[in-house]
Amino acid sequence: MNLFAMGFRKCDLKGCGHFGASRGSRKHAGVDMACTPYTEVGSPVRGVVTKLGWPYRGRPEIRYVEVNAGDYFFRVFYVDPAVKVGDMVELNGVLGTSQALGNLYPGITEHVHFEIKDKDGEYVDPTPVILALRGTLKVDL
Ligand SMILES: [Zn+2]
Repeated sequence: MNLFAMGFRKCDLKGCGHFGASRGSRKHAGVDMACTPYTEVGSPVRGVVTKLGWPYRGRPEIRYVEVNAGDYFFRVFYVDPAVKVGDMVELNGVLGTSQALGNLYPGITEHVHFEIKDKDGEYVDPTPVILALRGTLKVDL
């Protein structure tokens, strides 16, 4: 599914999905997109896969995929990767399959987490990108 066609995760028992939402002492560094588990997730950008990561120590099944394009790094969390480091992916090319979060965060809205970092490691709010690309989606994406 196209990342930009997913709805935003609103507030639920575990918090809110928008950029900058409270996460205790931290702020949410990305945007959560509501997504049914086991859905194929498209890349937010055309670029090169630079990392397949593990966001949580002790939870090796939970993964993320990082794609680099220009000066920015686009990361989609809670995706079981179908790509490998060094692969070129097209816009909306399949990155992998969304993972179920119910065991990790009971009561949470199932979602994938999308974040953008610049080359200095600073987080960028993905919301305007999502809104702009959602507006240009074609039916066949
Ligand atoms: Zn998130």
